[in-house]
Amino acid sequence: MRPIEKKHPGDIVRYTDSNNQEIEHTIQTDYKNYGDAKFPLVGNIGLFCSYCEGVEKLHSLEVEHVAAKTKTGSCTAWNNFLLSCKICNTIKGDERINNEYHLPHINNTFYSFIYDDTGRIKVNDKIPALSQKRAQNLLDLAKLQRYPGTQNPPSPKDFRWHSRLETWKIASDWKEKFIDGKITEEDIIAYAKTKGQWSVWFTVFKGVDSVRARLISDFPGTCASCFDANNNYEPIERNPGEEDPV
Ligand SMILES: [Zn+2]
Repeated sequence: MRPIEKKHPGDIVRYTDSNNQEIEHTIQTDYKNYGDAKFPLVGNIGLFCSYCEGVEKLHSLEVEHVAAKTKTGSCTAWNNFLLSCKICNTIKGDERINNEYHLPHINNTFYSFIYDDTGRIKVNDKIPALSQKRAQNLLDLAKLQRYPGTQNPPSPKDFRWHSRLETWKIASDWKEKFIDGKITEEDIIAYAKTKGQWSVWFTVFKGVDSVRARLISDFPGTCASCFDANNNYEPIERNPGEEDPV
């Protein structure tokens, strides 16, 4: 899951609004109508679901309340917003969120999880036990481990596993083409933005530092400090020294 750096109230974000105007917007502490936070969020972190990493059309992307608005979560606070697809938002529902969950704007959620060539996602067993527990809590909350033929099958509308699997195949194919000199970094980044699934691209392009660097710099809001530029952009602790350093 792509770790993201959310802007703070008072920061400037740029986006194109529904009248095709280029807007320079100062992030507010509160948005009386939370839908008004959508364009600023898109300008900050792109057209991607914060949880399953699918790319979304503007109209189908939802402003997601990290702590559910019917529980303790604020309806209006910028700090309580992420972007989500309808499936992740619906599944997550009214669950109470607290610090028992890894979250992409607080933790290095690329370090939290492992993506594989079957389209599955699982917790990284190399991180500390408490971090593993909190990472698993997020997978359970968003039901991101649903997979056909397992005890945890997807619902008929849930193709998040398929999107990961399909992207893995494409990214692997494109990595070979890139190494053979048939396509450029530009091609890869442009295509990755239309497919989403940042973590799959980043996993597949392990060993190709120039592409990993571009995935970090060209996907808006990616937390660059979550990766070690001197070690093949491998993920590093985001909260060193804390009880959950990931
Ligand atoms: Zn999603």
